[in-house]
Amino acid sequence: MGIAIYPGSFDPVTLGHLDIIKRAATQFDHVIVCVMFNSHKSGLFQPEERVELIERVTSDLGNVEVDMSSQLLAQYAKGKGASCIVKGLRAMSDFEEEFQMATINRKLNPKLDTIFLTACQDFTYLSSSIVKEMARYNVKLEGFVSPLIEKDVNQKMKEHLALENNRQKK
Ligand code: ADP
Repeated sequence: MGIAIYPGSFDPVTLGHLDIIKRAATQFDHVIVCVMFNSHKSGLFQPEERVELIERVTSDLGNVEVDMSSQLLAQYAKGKGASCIVKGLRAMSDFEEEFQMATINRKLNPKLDTIFLTACQDFTYLSSSIVKEMARYNVKLEGFVSPLIEKDVNQKMKEHLALENNRQKK
């Protein structure tokens, strides 16, 4: 069914994201997971680091590629020859913004459609922000992120908190 793009911040990739990636990979010939970033919004992980973490947790999926871009999504998708954007829907609260984005993207690139996959029941509460909040308070990340990246998230948060502490002291 052609090429699909799964865009997001993935700061960091969660088990909820991974579930969507795996399901999309069974429906499309090729899935490009794209870390979308812009220079005004910094995250916990650098875009290159987010790509590396996603690559690690999807290394067993042969038709999944990981990329990053600061382009407008509709333009990026056109450049990649993608016919579809995949999005995950956790709750009604996701819907309004996603509906608006899908409409805009189709206006910008009429050949581009958006497909929504509903979140797996176990992960409806899960977001990258929740993962960061847990890591900040040293809560075990089991069940939130892949065991393959748990250490990296904890380490990154440690460094972040140390920097924050230093700044407060100044
Ligand atoms: P987050 O809200 O976790 O920061 P992103 O902006 O990286 O997520 O989200 C990328 C895409 O993944 C969006 O379509 C979002 O709705 C979807 N998504 C995020 N978390 C989940 C989840 N737990 N289950 C299903 N889809 C999700």
